[in-house]
Amino acid sequence: MTKSKGRPVRIAISGAAGQISYSLLFRLIGGDLLGPDQPVALQLLETSAALPQLEGVAMELQDCASPLLSSLSCHDDPEQAFLDADVVFLVGARPRSAGMERGDLLASNAEIFSAQGRALNRVASRDVRVLVVGNPVNTNTLIALRNAPDLSPQNFSGMTRLDHNRAMSLIARQLGCRTDEISGVMIWGNHSTTQFPDLHHAHAQGLPALDQLPLRWYEETLIPTVRQRGAEIIRVRGKSSAASGANAALAQMRDWIHGIPENGWTSMAVLSAGQYGISPGLVYSFPVRVNDGHWQIVEGLDVHPDAEAGIRASETELLGERDLIRHLLPD
Ligand code: NDP
Repeated sequence: MTKSKGRPVRIAISGAAGQISYSLLFRLIGGDLLGPDQPVALQLLETSAALPQLEGVAMELQDCASPLLSSLSCHDDPEQAFLDADVVFLVGARPRSAGMERGDLLASNAEIFSAQGRALNRVASRDVRVLVVGNPVNTNTLIALRNAPDLSPQNFSGMTRLDHNRAMSLIARQLGCRTDEISGVMIWGNHSTTQFPDLHHAHAQGLPALDQLPLRWYEETLIPTVRQRGAEIIRVRGKSSAASGANAALAQMRDWIHGIPENGWTSMAVLSAGQYGISPGLVYSFPVRVNDGHWQIVEGLDVHPDAEAGIRASETELLGERDLIRHLLPD
């Protein structure tokens, strides 16, 4: 994506009247993604039923009088919302309702994300970056990219940055250091309770993190806390997390566009080509570097035997999810 002061970058957001988007949109027009000099054109997508609420959000965006907001449009048709989009956040997803089976949830989201994948294929910029936030993230990402055969898998990633950030914050609080003094954390697998937060390559203040942290704390506190943090926030706050999700979406997209410090990595759910023995064709969270605006799975790391079982369990869950929606994937 080329940024230029004159040309606004087109940013499309689905589920734009929802609570994550409400935390995301105002930061986008404040320059938090592309900097204080880059105008943006917002192309907002919602269901037809939610268009009136979206209109209210649009009014608030206008009332910010941001010099960076070059245009704003609201849509219920993905082809209009994604037209020439450079950056896309797919936030909207069907939530699980009472009595809904996992297969039904996967199938109803598969329909949404296949339609959006086809629309992206037809009308988005060929250089678009599509970040999937709506759950089930990994499988939704897979469906979208499989329905966009003229785009590259490089155009897609799913968000596991919030899990990554949660692990970073826990380590920093445990060691009494800053998060920017920590590196090498990685999240393997599915954005679900089977994900595996791996600290075996993590460093804090230049020393191996696991030399400074009790193994018991890692296994019995950090791993379950990261896995269950979303449910815990709902229990305590009475609503699901939104601002931290929006913050993670911005961070993942920012790293994808601008790159990450040399030798560092982050976690993103991207298409496996068989790295670390993960089935090719699954969207799986790996340690990822960004080169020249392209993600690249970090290869050749030793996988600690304690991590291996977790990595496989998450792969098994994702294979099961794919089986449930396989009939909706194009050949
Ligand atoms: P949120 O904005 O809170 O969440 C949107 C999606 O992000 C959900 O799938 C949610 O998963 C997921 N998510 C990912 N990470 C997190 C996190 N850390 N914390 C919370 N959620 C996370 O949902 P709302 O219900 O407020 O808004 C959704 C909007 O999407 C609605 O306005 C709806 O109309 C719209 N929608 C739009 C569609 C479209 O544009 N075509 C299609 C479907 C819905 P989880 O549910 O597991 O919390």
